[in-house]
This record gives sequence, structure tokens and C-alpha cells, in this order.
Amino acid sequence: MKRLENKVAIITGGAAGIGAATATRFAAEGATTIIWDLDETRGNALAEQLCSEGKKASFAKVNTAKYEEVEAATKAVIEKFGKIDILINNAGITRDSTLKKMTPEQWQQVIDVNLTGVFYCTKIVSEYMVEKNYGRIVNASSVVALYGNFGQTNYVATKAGLIGMTKTWARELGKKGITVNAIAPGFIATEMVSKMPENVIDAMKSKVPVARLGQPEEIAAAYLFLASDEAAYINGATLSVDGGMTI
Ligand code: NAD
Repeated sequence: MKRLENKVAIITGGAAGIGAATATRFAAEGATTIIWDLDETRGNALAEQLCSEGKKASFAKVNTAKYEEVEAATKAVIEKFGKIDILINNAGITRDSTLKKMTPEQWQQVIDVNLTGVFYCTKIVSEYMVEKNYGRIVNASSVVALYGNFGQTNYVATKAGLIGMTKTWARELGKKGITVNAIAPGFIATEMVSKMPENVIDAMKSKVPVARLGQPEEIAAAYLFLASDEAAYINGATLSVDGGMTI
């Protein structure tokens, strides 16, 4: 049986990388899959491809860091499908620089998308989950939240912040049938990582006990588990999906 049959799922940042792999997997598992992303070309192409394979998918251009856009897009989903079962807060950006060189703009851009955007999406979408007494919310943290990372003051602040927000929302929403969890991926082979120099990628691999980068599909599998009914008793957890980096 398909694991997300009759579920309506929103995946932010679903047009590329981990988000695209997640949209593809969720659609294959029977979910009505809604991709929110800034990238219209890729988002539309992915939704069209999934629909052409007989799956249920759609795309909307949404900047998750803009409250009004998230509100309007959420209302559109509710008007069309009547409910939202799953929210995958996957959209995230990097603007790397050392502490010395990082500009206030770089700091703010990352805070706006990775932290404020997740707050907006969760605040707005969870209202509708509460009405149905059901919801699964999964946030994208990172292994760097636990270790810190050279040149990523802004990014690490957001990914560590998300762990605290996940636990807080797990406490606030648990009684209302909603679980909130996070995943902490290690180094995953997406554009975010592939634009780094080869020697940096080799150094990354050398830190991973399984001696390779992760694949987006392997993160999609973790999102799927936490979004499924099987994970009903997991709440407030941060699941490391990192080939053993954190042991
Ligand atoms: P990616 O850059 O490949 O894709 C991110 C997607 O998010 C893009 O399609 C982009 O257009 C979209 N996006 C960016 N800002 C947005 C906004 N304001 N509103 C809507 N969409 C927006 O990234 P990825 O590597 O697939 O990462 C996905 C998530 O996983 C991110 O939160 C990232 O921080 C996290 N993560 C990634 C890695 C990794 O190694 N790739 C490791 C740990 C955590």
C-alpha cells in the first residue's frame, strides 16, 4: 500500500535538490503533492512531469519569507483540497562568509528564509491542521547545527534555531494531533554542495563513516518516514541522516 494515500502535502523548496526528490517520492507514495518554490521553471516542470506519470502534483510560486504570500498560497490549497496533512519546511539558503566578512545583509537573508520563513509556514499551515486534529510537520535542520561550521554563522544560527523551534512546536501542537520533528542531514549531493570546490567535497567525504556524500533520495526517505502515520509517536525529535558523521 502507498504510504501517503489521501494525504495533502506541501513541500517548500520543492523544485530542486532534496525538495524535488521529496516531492517525487511523496507523489509516488500517493500524496497530493504541492510544491512551493521561488523557481517557477523547475517547479512547473517537476509538477508537470509527475502529473504526466499519473501522480497528483502542483506548483505555486511562493516566497516562504513573505507572510502574505504564504497566507495566500495556504488559502488556495485549503480552497482546492480542504485540508493540509503534511508540511515539509525544506526551503533553505546559504550565504557563506567568515564572521569578519559577513555583511548584515547576508546575515538577514539567511535568517529571513531559513528561520522566519519556517515560522510563517508553520504558523499559518498549522492553524488548518488543528481544525482537523491531524498534522505532520518536518523541518530541515543540519548536521552543522550540532557542530558549527566555518564560514556559516548565519546558516548555523538558523539550523540550530530550528531544533529549538521544533521542540517548542512539538510541545504546543502535540495535543492537537500534530507531530513536529526535524531532520539533520549531513553532506548531501545537491547544488548547495556541488558548487563547493572539489578539495572541500573530498574533505567532507573523509569525515563521513560511510565514506560518501548522501543522496537527496536518502533525505526524502527520512522526510517520508516522519511524515507517515508510522511515525505517530515520534514528536520533537531531530533525526540525523548523515552516514554516521555525528557519532
Ligand atoms: P537546494 O539549494 O538544492 O534547493 C533549495 C530550494 O529552495 C531551491 O529550489 C530554491 O529555489 C528554494 N528556495 C530558496 N529560498 C526560497 C524561498 N524563500 N521560498 C521558497 N523556496 C525557496 O538545497 P538542498 O541542498 O536541496 O537543501 C534543502 C534543505 O536541506 C535546506 O533547508 C538545506 O539547508 C538543508 N540541508 C541541506 C544539506 C545539503 O548538504 N545539501 C545539508 C543539511 C541540510
